[in-house]
Amino acid sequence: MSHDVLLVAETRDGQLKKGAFEGATAARRVADALGGKVTAVVVGHGVTGADALGRCGVDRVLVVDGPAFARYAGDALAAAVLAAAAKVSPRLVLFSATVAGKETGPAVAARLSAACVADATGLAVEGGELVATKPRLGGKAFAKVAVKAPVAVVSLRQNVVTPADAPRTAAVERLDVAAPASRVRLQQVVAPTAKEIELTEADVIVSGGRGLQAPENWKVVLDLADALGAAHGASRAVVDAGWRPHKEQVGQTGKTVSPKLYVAAGISGAIQHLAGMSGSKVIVAVNKDPDAPIFQVADYGIVGDAMVVLPLLATEARSYLKR
Ligand SMILES: Cc1cc2nc3c(=O)[nH]c(=O)nc-3n(C[C@H](O)[C@H](O)[C@H](O)COP(=O)(O)OP(=O)(O)OC[C@H]3O[C@@H](n4cnc5c(N)ncnc54)[C@H](O)[C@@H]3O)c2cc1C
Repeated sequence: MSHDVLLVAETRDGQLKKGAFEGATAARRVADALGGKVTAVVVGHGVTGADALGRCGVDRVLVVDGPAFARYAGDALAAAVLAAAAKVSPRLVLFSATVAGKETGPAVAARLSAACVADATGLAVEGGELVATKPRLGGKAFAKVAVKAPVAVVSLRQNVVTPADAPRTAAVERLDVAAPASRVRLQQVVAPTAKEIELTEADVIVSGGRGLQAPENWKVVLDLADALGAAHGASRAVVDAGWRPHKEQVGQTGKTVSPKLYVAAGISGAIQHLAGMSGSKVIVAVNKDPDAPIFQVADYGIVGDAMVVLPLLATEARSYLKR
């Protein structure tokens, strides 16, 4: 049985994404426990700086580069990963639990007759077996899933691993892959504006809910996010009401986030919202109802009017960060 790990390192505009380094650290730890090597497949167009993965313990990098790989397309990414897997014969194929990873991982697993664990929050080797941690019941419980199959495909949530130095010189090779004709046509890419931080990659998120009362009050959420250098999110209630775009929705039918700090303002804490954010390391809730369910998952709770509390937090944050 192989002991090697194949990491799927995502790119944006030819540059490695932050999650690629988190994945490299997770892959290195698994490979060390198994006694294997880490190969990363880097897929994109105009890829540069792929050797930087060596910093976090990647031994070898296979670069699949071409116009067909410029934007994410599931069938093209699957073809690239399968071509890399054919070279490496890995025990583990590790994706980030992004839209791309959660969509392409199962397709790759099917083609490799591998076990598939999606959206894991932890990955370890116990008694020689790969064991993934998976949130259940919207994050209220965690299951440990031991992989019995010889090959596993796992997608690991972002922000659950901190990139760590394990420096080596990664050998970079080009891997030529013919992208299949895509069955999906990309119509439009809505890029975040310069000031926007992608929710799933953010270390700090300030989210608002229906307790903000009206869309014009959203400025207190945006201002606190600005003071903290944070991304801003929303509950489904305000997205459904048209106050905020769907790309900001956190939860079961929105994005899954695991920042270091999550501020939930005027959000009741419905289980569908918790499903998307209960993996956050520190949760601060601001709600005027002391019995709101959000306080059951919060590390710090402030009972009060979000319209009063958020500006105070923003002022404090600005003066603290200036020191
Ligand atoms: C299949 C399905 C999928 C779903 N997916 C999602 C999802 O992905 N994400 C999601 O968020 N929801 C989702 N929902 C909806 C979810 O069940 C809740 O309805 C929604 O999360 C409620 O949003 P909210 O907390 O903003 O609003 P509310 O439930 O109306 O809560 C508002 C809160 O604000 C507080 N409040 C009021 N005024 C103030 C004030 N001035 N200051 C401070 N606090 C105040 C109130 O006490 C209350 O706790 C889903 C539901 C279903 C059925």
